[in-house]
Amino acid sequence: MSLARFALHGGAGVIDRKLLSPTREAQYRDEMQRIAAQAWAALANGAPALDVVEQAVRQLEDCPLFNAGHGAVLNRDGVAELDAAIMDGRNRAAGAVGACFAPRYPISLARAILEQGDHVMLVGPNADRFALARGLECVDPAYFLTADRQHQLALALAEGRISLDHDNVQQAPDQPSPQDKTGTVGAVARDQYGNLAAATSTGGMTNKCPGRLGDAPIIGAGTWADNQTCAVSATGHGEYFIRCVVGYDIHARMAYGGQSLVEAAQAVLRRVGEMGGTGGLIAIGADGTVSLPMNSEGMYRAWVGADGRPQVAIYR
Ligand code: ASP
Repeated sequence: MSLARFALHGGAGVIDRKLLSPTREAQYRDEMQRIAAQAWAALANGAPALDVVEQAVRQLEDCPLFNAGHGAVLNRDGVAELDAAIMDGRNRAAGAVGACFAPRYPISLARAILEQGDHVMLVGPNADRFALARGLECVDPAYFLTADRQHQLALALAEGRISLDHDNVQQAPDQPSPQDKTGTVGAVARDQYGNLAAATSTGGMTNKCPGRLGDAPIIGAGTWADNQTCAVSATGHGEYFIRCVVGYDIHARMAYGGQSLVEAAQAVLRRVGEMGGTGGLIAIGADGTVSLPMNSEGMYRAWVGADGRPQVAIYR
C-alpha cells in the first residue's frame, strides 16, 4: 500500500446547487480530477511532495475557473493582487509572496523565495522585481483580468461589500455567474518518503483594500507543513484564519495536545466559526490521514488516499 497522499482545494464558500449549471459543475470536477490524477502519478513515480504541490497549484493558477493566477478576483482598484505560499515539512523551509502583480505563477515565486533562503516573505512591487530578477515568467496585469471578475467587482462595489469569491449573489441560474468562478487554490501532499508539503495561492477577496494580505501567504495561518504532524492549506475569510493561526494551531494541538489530525482540524475550524469566519481546509497527517473539513456549504476539493483513486467533491 502506498504511503503517498494528495489533496487539493479550489476554494470554500456558499456554493448553491441552483447557481452551478451541470456543465460548469462538470468542468470543475474534470479539472480537479485531472490535476489530482497527475499529482498522484508524480508521487507514484517518486516525485517529492514539495514539487508536487507546486505543480498542482501552477495548474490551478492557469485555470480561469479558480481565484488564483489567471482569473484571480480584483481588489477595490480593479487590479488582481496576488498572494501565495509554499512550505516544506522536512525542515519548515517556507516562501511566501503578498500583494504582488506580475508573476504568472505566484506559487513559483514563493518557491523561488524558499529556495533562495534569505527571507520567508516578499510583498508588493519588490516581490515582482525579485520574480523578474530570478527569470520567472511575468505578465502584464491585464493578463489576470477576466470579464467575470470585473462584473463581480462591480457588484461588490455597488453593494459596498468585500466578498469571498464564492459568496452567493442572487441571479438567474442561466446567467453566467461570477460565483461560477470559485476559490483560492491549495494543495497538500505526502510523498513516498513520508515528507509533507503545502501550497496555497489566491487573489484574496473581491473589493479588498489594496495592500491587504489574506491568510494564504501567512505561514502558520493559511499554509503550514511539518513532517512531525501535518500539512495544511486553508480557504475562507482570511482575517479569521489569520487570527486563529489555523495551520499552526492544528500542528500545535497534534504536537503538544496529542490530538489526531481530524480532531485538531475540526476544533480549529469550530473556533473560526465561533469568531464569525467561514471556510474550510485540506490537511494530510504524518500518518497519512486525509482531512477536508469545512464550515461553509461547500468546498471544491479532490483527494487521493491509499487506494490511489482520485475522488472529487463540491458540497458538504
Ligand atoms: N482565504 C482567502 C483570503 O482571505 C480567500 C479564499 O479562500 O477564497 O484571501
